[in-house]
Order: sequence, then structure tokens, then C-alpha cells
Amino acid sequence: MRRLLSLAVFLSASSPLVWAGELEAGAARSAITPELSGGRVVYLAGFGHNRAATGVHDELYAHCLALGAAHRTLVLCSVDLIGLFYDDVLAIRRQFERTAPSASLLIVAATHTHAGPDTLGLYGPKPLQSGIDPQYLNWLDARIAATASGAVRAMQPARLELGRDDHPLLGLLQGEDRPPIVKDPFLFVMRLAARSTGQTIATLVNWSDHPEVLGGKNTEITSDYPHWVRTYLEEQLGGTALFFSGSIGKVSPLHQVSLVDPDTGKIAEDGTWRKAELLGTEIGRLSQRALKNGGEADIDSLSIRSATVFVPMQNPLFRAAEAAGVLKGRKPLYTNGKPDPQTQTRNLPNLGRVEFATGSDIRTEVDYVQLRSRGAAVAEIVAIPGEIYPELVDGGIQRYSGADYPDAPFEPVLRPQLKSKYQFIFGLTNDEIGYLIPKAEWDEEPPWLMNASSSFYGEVNSVGPDAAVAVLRALSALVRQ
Ligand SMILES: [Zn+2]
Repeated sequence: MRRLLSLAVFLSASSPLVWAGELEAGAARSAITPELSGGRVVYLAGFGHNRAATGVHDELYAHCLALGAAHRTLVLCSVDLIGLFYDDVLAIRRQFERTAPSASLLIVAATHTHAGPDTLGLYGPKPLQSGIDPQYLNWLDARIAATASGAVRAMQPARLELGRDDHPLLGLLQGEDRPPIVKDPFLFVMRLAARSTGQTIATLVNWSDHPEVLGGKNTEITSDYPHWVRTYLEEQLGGTALFFSGSIGKVSPLHQVSLVDPDTGKIAEDGTWRKAELLGTEIGRLSQRALKNGGEADIDSLSIRSATVFVPMQNPLFRAAEAAGVLKGRKPLYTNGKPDPQTQTRNLPNLGRVEFATGSDIRTEVDYVQLRSRGAAVAEIVAIPGEIYPELVDGGIQRYSGADYPDAPFEPVLRPQLKSKYQFIFGLTNDEIGYLIPKAEWDEEPPWLMNASSSFYGEVNSVGPDAAVAVLRALSALVRQ
């Protein structure tokens, strides 16, 4: 357990002085769609291998929102990508910091679209062949850094409105096919408006659903339903709209989520542009309603806390991918807090004799931010480096016969620890370490959970059964601080 918690607080910025600062906000946006011309193959990320892009339905973007108060600056960037590894985020920050104000933190979250370029390497032509185009990825890092700087340059005095919708019926927009069926039907919204004109600078939406409505047969680049969330809000409210995915582990709008098309009276089918449009427009409408029912907040300071976390790497497939260069060196392994590039040759089921990276941990980060008014948290932002299962956020972890660690202690559930009404939880933020699964529900060995006839999907895309506790303990420490 000690190893899980090699935890270093490197930026603790809760100001000791009460300094009434005025809130400032600025937004910027850049297209980040990869070039398809010139015979270049762009492997789409999500679902499986060798899905080459054939066209662009809608542009992919980096959207950034800069918030400043009392000499602290927070920049929140959302990128239409499957995910970015921590080393890319560190590279983005190094470029951003050349022009950044002091005491600033840049957070980069991926929406997790399943119809964008492979930025992780796992979706190339076949297993153990990378889908990453390093030239594109380097260009992308610089582009995101420039967009973050653009948001800072655009900062102006601003008012903040906050909205929240937690009606259980929102859970009907979230499908799950693995027990326990726990939903995270929380929609959080913030709108920043210019103090001088009242015009919208930005609207930020936080919602949990895999952006994969178009499915594995689609080969056109798209940001999926978040495109329509943003389009709706920009038409209705003006300004720039940003979408942040929340606790999306095992949560999908496919299969169980039914949306009636008002034009035909029929249920829009999975894999269609129409379903993505209906879902995105609905989330946009609910966001606008949440703002109408919400309230204004007088923010005068930001508290920003971050910690690096070393998480044990327990997935042999990821070790083989690392050793084969699939990740292009962008997710190195560490032992005792130091980079460890060692490999061994091993026999693995399904893969045969392969090189195997032997370092013990990966390095990642968690962040916890409070937007404060006179010293009290009015809204909070939690940054999680992966796809967290909803029961780790809202509670409801279950013990099942058939689980591999039936007596494992429960992880510290996140939401009950938070202190404000507006609890923004950003998944896939600053890193993509895969699914965060409660250890008590971990199941790689038969018998399967609830005596199911086959295993449930999840573990294959997780770094291991001890990842969730490492991330949640680090976050609990930041929240308590
Ligand atoms: Zn996913």
C-alpha cells in the first residue's frame, strides 16, 4: 500500500491571505483534425485495430477556458481525442509555461471520442503495431499549448453562473451492461459572461457517456455527440462551448439508450448521425435548463492542488505494448519513482514470445480545484486520469461471488467527500490510464461475477486492480488538505 501512495504534492496554492480578487475568464478554440491527404493513413481510435479514416464529418477541436482570480490562473482544455498520455500533457505544459502567468495550472482532458486519431498507439494496423503518428502528435501538443495561451490572452473580467441537474431520469441517457448498474446522472454546467457586455465567453458542460454513438463501423472523423452539445449551446448562448467527459467507465449511450426522433416518431438507431445529434442536442438543452435553474456565484479566489501518483502496472498486455514501442515512449514505466526502460523476453497467452517491460509503475497526476467565495468552496473540479466506474464516484460498490478479490476493502468513494453543490468531475484528464475498477469487483478469473456464463468487459483495458485505490486515495488527500 505504501508503494501505491508515493505521492508528492507539488503545487498547493490555497492562498493563505484572503484577497478579494475579481474573476476573469477567456476562451479559445483551435481545430486539431489530422490531415488525410497525401496518402497518409489515420488510424481511428476505439473499438479495435485497423480502422482507417476515410473522411471528416466534423472538425476535431481543442477548446480552452482560462479562469483567473487573486493571482491564480487555471486553464481547462478539452480535446476531441480518445485520450492523451501524461508525458504529452507535460510536453504541452512546458510549451504553455513559456508565456503562462505564474501560479497557473493547465489541465488537459480528452472527450474520449471513438472517431478521432489514435493518440495512444493501441489502435494501429494490428496488435503490437502502433497507430500513433508522432509528427501529428508533436504538432498537436504545440497546438493545444497555443490554444491554452490564447485563452489566457483573452481573459477579461467575468461573471460566473453555475447549473446542476441530478434528476434520476437523466440516467436513462446512460447505458451499462456490467454489474452493479450504478449511474452517475449528474450534469454540471458553468457559464462565464463578460462583465462589460453580459455576452457569453464560454459555457462548460460536464456529463458522463462514452462518445461512441457512431460505433465501430463508422470511418469518418467526428467528435461524436459532444459536437451537437456544443453546437446547440453556441447557437443558444453564444461564446465558446466546452465539453468534459465525466465518470464514463462502462457507461455508454449505445444499446440501452433510446431516443425518439421527433421527425419520424421512431427510435434513432445506434451508429447513426441522427442518434448522435439527438443525444448531443438533448444534453445541450438540459444544460441550458440547468443554468436557468442555477445561480450566480461571486468567485474571488481559486484553490488549486495537484499530486503526482505512481500506480502499479499490472496489465501484461500494456507491458508488451510498451516494450514493442506501440506507445512510442509516451507512457514510460517507473521503478521506485525513477524511469525504468528494462525489458525481458516472455511467453504471453495470445501473443507468444514477446518483449515485456518490467518496470513496476506508471506515473500520473490528480488535481483538485475549488472556486471560492470569501474562503468557501462554491464549485469544485476533480481531475481523474482515466475512465472511472460510477460506483467509485457515487457509491454502490458491490461484493459478488466469483470476484477475484472478494474481500478487498472498498476504495474511498469520491462525491461524498466533496464540499460544494457544483461537483465537476473530469475523466481522462491529464492522462489515460484506462478503466478504474473497484478491486472488490475485479474479475479476470472464472467463475465470473454473479455466475455469468462469460466474463464482463473491463479488466483488459485497466492497468490493474490497484489503480482505483491509488487514484482515489491521492484525491482524498488533496480534498482533505
Ligand atoms: Zn473508453
